[in-house]
Amino acid sequence: IKAIDNHEFDLYYQPKYNLDREIVSAEALVRWIEPNGEVIPPVTFISIAEESGLIIPLGEEILKLAFQYAQQDISLMQRAGIRDIAINVSPRQFTDSDFIKTIIYEISKSELDPGLFTLEITEEAVVRNVDETIEFMNILKRHGFKLSIDDFGTGYSSLRYLKEFPLDELKIDQSFVNEIVENKDDAAIVSSIILMAQNLGLDVVAEGVEKEQQLKFLKLNGCEYFQGYLFSRPVPHSEFVELLQDQVKSRIRAV
Ligand code: C2E
Ligand code: CA
Ligand code: CA
Repeated sequence: IKAIDNHEFDLYYQPKYNLDREIVSAEALVRWIEPNGEVIPPVTFISIAEESGLIIPLGEEILKLAFQYAQQDISLMQRAGIRDIAINVSPRQFTDSDFIKTIIYEISKSELDPGLFTLEITEEAVVRNVDETIEFMNILKRHGFKLSIDDFGTGYSSLRYLKEFPLDELKIDQSFVNEIVENKDDAAIVSSIILMAQNLGLDVVAEGVEKEQQLKFLKLNGCEYFQGYLFSRPVPHSEFVELLQDQVKSRIRAV
């Protein structure tokens, strides 16, 4: 609680790229910056925050940060051709009706277009409570937010539900991407997910792309969006701004 009150949390950004290796989007990833400057990754505190309920105030802080940064960057984002910023929403948040109220309140206060934000919800969260999830998704969708299923392939979601969710994007879990080159089963799963997403009219993003060979396989199988260390690690907001400035310059040169 003290760390939230002291604003010790900040957002890193990891770009998502298209087939031309241009940044089209970026995912906000929380970091705990301790007073001594040490950067603590979310794996060490998100699950604890989930269990203790602290994810609710933390999630609110993350939303506010993401909206503030987007307000600062909006003109640069437009010039660079960035269509959205992704925000992770944890399972506990997504079944909290106050979260829905908070996000709608904060976005209206900011005067930003909700379509500038994609909410990433893990597949595991989605299958935990299907009816409520559909209801919350529909409300957020009506308000203009975009919706993505994160870690897709890990949560046993039924295809019937998938059709009922008002989704824009699927993100293939990095555990499958990891071994697409070596492991035939993973390759089969990934190519099937891509095909299915295309047939459902959804964008599909491969996460955790680390090697050129993985990228090659994904491209051959029709994947159009990529995220991973091969392209960029998550970077502090100031560095993300530099990446966007570089992209604006190369867009100007291309004209
Ligand atoms: P995630 O949403 O699946 O995020 C992807 C994680 O994979 C990130 O770790 C990212 O740094 C890492 N990653 C990206 N590309 C690669 C790659 O090529 N190779 C490898 N090995 N890893 C890669 P990070 O930032 O430590 O986040 C871990 C998890 O913490 C996230 O998984 C997400 O579930 C959660 N998280 C992060 N930020 C937030 C947040 O703001 N709110 C909530 N509720 N959860 C968050
Ligand atoms: Ca994510
Ligand atoms: Ca993921």
